[in-house]
Amino acid sequence: MSKVFFKKISYEELLKRPDIIVDGLKIAGITENFKKDNFVGLKIHFGEKGNKSFINPNFLIPLSKFLKKCQSRPFLFETNTLYRGERMNAVDHMNLAYGHGFAKTNMPIVIADGIKGNDYIEAKIDKKHFKTCFLAKALFDVDFLLVLSHLTGHMLTGFGAAVKNLGMGCAARRGKLSQHCTMQPVISEKKCIMCGMCVKSCPAQAIEKGEAKCYVVKEKCIGCAQCISVCPRGAVDIVWSEEYNLMGEKMAEYAYAVTKNIKCAYVNFCLYITKECDCMNKESAGFIKDIGILFSYDPVAIDKASLDLVQKQENRDAILECHPKINYLHHLQYAETLGLGSLNYELVEI
Ligand code: SF4
Ligand code: SF4
Repeated sequence: MSKVFFKKISYEELLKRPDIIVDGLKIAGITENFKKDNFVGLKIHFGEKGNKSFINPNFLIPLSKFLKKCQSRPFLFETNTLYRGERMNAVDHMNLAYGHGFAKTNMPIVIADGIKGNDYIEAKIDKKHFKTCFLAKALFDVDFLLVLSHLTGHMLTGFGAAVKNLGMGCAARRGKLSQHCTMQPVISEKKCIMCGMCVKSCPAQAIEKGEAKCYVVKEKCIGCAQCISVCPRGAVDIVWSEEYNLMGEKMAEYAYAVTKNIKCAYVNFCLYITKECDCMNKESAGFIKDIGILFSYDPVAIDKASLDLVQKQENRDAILECHPKINYLHHLQYAETLGLGSLNYELVEI
């Protein structure tokens, strides 16, 4: 059974006392990886332009100081996105990160799959969906990866936290594409008003205007889901729930590939929890009360513990209510079968 350490705290309290993160890492035995001269990557999501719910850079200032006191070489680690936006290449991505205040962490930023997201190393795993995963090249120079994840709902996986941050977040663009490429949306004739927003935002020019509605050209679609998020009428949807499950399994295989090659530990921020992820280019309100922060060496256990804490606090399945068509536990269950971690855990309140 894996141990998950939990500190109950609100977003505002953590802003006043961000040193609590270092305390939690010490208690969880994670700081022993902050060795002299080691390259310690902090896997982070800088938030899409206009987003406000990403992990606040002020939370990371004492952690940065502590890592330097340990004489490690800490840096902020991220990869480019598959879809259009401000994080699609390293230059725009870093400018956005600075704009979102990450310079104050005093750590350099490394966009690990290169300027255009094309730098990868093939990692062999020999699993059901993938024999080879295309992981961000710079990942292989990291001595230790501390995966910092913001728990949110997610339109493709039901929720996103540690496993998603590993699997999708450490893949180069080719790897992200291979995880998404079975997801093909359909457009409802009844709901589509032909506004053309999906046509403009599709990175693969896979949507065309028909007579009564827009339609997806299946051969061109790369399954990035951008059209689902931009449609103002909710006219774009994925039909079969197996598609969601399939993507979740692929993502879990990528997460497995990362942990097979790099030692990792995890911190989940269950604060300012939004219905959609931090890739949304708009400000969203938190939809449930803050819960706290969790620490673990097990990505499956920390995600399951985060979900259980949501359920316990809300006394309802708040994550399922956000995305009722998605079995959000599926990717964790599959991850457990891969040996990525355990759904059974011991929660230790600190
Ligand atoms: S049709 Fe939708 S899912 Fe397919 S590539 Fe275009 S935006 Fe992405
Ligand atoms: S964004 Fe939605 S409503 Fe607008 S054209 Fe596309 S499917 Fe139709």
